[in-house]
Amino acid sequence: MDASPFDEWIRDDEVTSLLRRDWERQTTTIQLIASENFASPAVLAATGSILTNKYAEGYPGRRYYGGNQIVDEVEDLARRRLCALLGAEHANVQPHSGANANVAVYQALLQPGDTILAMRLDQGGHLTHGSPASITSTFWNFVSYGVTPRSDDPSAPGEVIDFDNVRELALAHRPRMIVAGATAYARIIDPVPFREIADEVGALLMFDSAHVAGLIAGGSHPNPVPYADVVAFTTHKTLRGPRGGAIVSRAEHAKAIDAAVFPGQQGGPLEHVIAAKAVAFREASLANFAVYTEQILTNARAFARALAAEGFRLVSGGTENHMVLLDLGPFDSELTGKVAQETLDRAGITTNRNTIPDDPRSAFVTSGLRVGTAAETTAGMGEREFTQIAALMARALRQRDDGEVLTAVRAEVAELCGRFNPYANFTR
Ligand SMILES: *Cc1c(COP(=O)(O)O)cnc(C)c1O
Repeated sequence: MDASPFDEWIRDDEVTSLLRRDWERQTTTIQLIASENFASPAVLAATGSILTNKYAEGYPGRRYYGGNQIVDEVEDLARRRLCALLGAEHANVQPHSGANANVAVYQALLQPGDTILAMRLDQGGHLTHGSPASITSTFWNFVSYGVTPRSDDPSAPGEVIDFDNVRELALAHRPRMIVAGATAYARIIDPVPFREIADEVGALLMFDSAHVAGLIAGGSHPNPVPYADVVAFTTHKTLRGPRGGAIVSRAEHAKAIDAAVFPGQQGGPLEHVIAAKAVAFREASLANFAVYTEQILTNARAFARALAAEGFRLVSGGTENHMVLLDLGPFDSELTGKVAQETLDRAGITTNRNTIPDDPRSAFVTSGLRVGTAAETTAGMGEREFTQIAALMARALRQRDDGEVLTAVRAEVAELCGRFNPYANFTR
């Protein structure tokens, strides 16, 4: 074979070494960030494919560039698979991220200045649900609903979406759109009461299923598609695809949504990522994906039980999804989310700090920690391992000033990760 034009360029030792180091980090430390997962080799391969070379502004059959016959098939396949997976009438697979998808939905269906009713950020909502730091709050007027107060009654622990509050605010502010969905909320979000309230006030309903899209696809959580006008989500969280976003909607909104994504917000779509989304949508339609999502929930319940036994308080009293929100206060009133996250990092356990409802500390410091089971369930861990991880976390946090304890925990973490390496049979 002739020399490749890339021969002189083929090695980038600096970047290669960084990739190796993060490979090492991902497979020798425990990944508990609730929004992360391990994508399959097939998803990684498509993401790293030559489709990155192609410009394809527009949509299948209506492109602004030549040479898109095959790319059209790729994007059509992704759209078809997604519609079949969720039972949707229309799919747009071009959003570069979940945030882009959300802004595109607002842009498609609302006028600037319209009112949107969404979840409070400090109680679980996302930045794109109206944070002052997000451009969404510049263009639209957000009103925020919250969760019920916490209670000591274990049969009704509180800190669940307060539908009386949602309804009251909807009647008072007459929003043009209601957003259901959260980024830090451990309970099932039932689309039905949201639909009823939306109908009562004549609002559109958008369901932001960024976190739980995989749980919905696997049949472990209720599918909002029959109830919501639009469902927007990320493809890289529980859905376990490449980093990106997607939108499904009723057919009547298809044109507006498509126009808002391109040319409204984005330029050329990432067709290599769209190919990887197609791979992920197929994977999520297979029977063993439903087994996977059930295991995510089983593991989260076991993890929550074990963490509660160690003295952490579970926000909303438990979990019905892939995440557990911990109030660190009862475990150690001095311990902040920031210090907990940093301590666990040293012990090889990757988490993120999070505010809890009515958190007295700032969003940068916090009194809570968010953990999730989606990634390590992909790696094959079960209830026994998550119970062990809870004990390791408690030990590291209790003795956080003792370097030897952290080193010992780190060694147990390495042993565990050695037995549950998602990429063990996959060469980099
Ligand atoms: C993660 C998330 C997003 C944003 O996704 P990005 O891909 O990070 O932009 C939007 N909404 C919710 C509820 C999320 O959890």
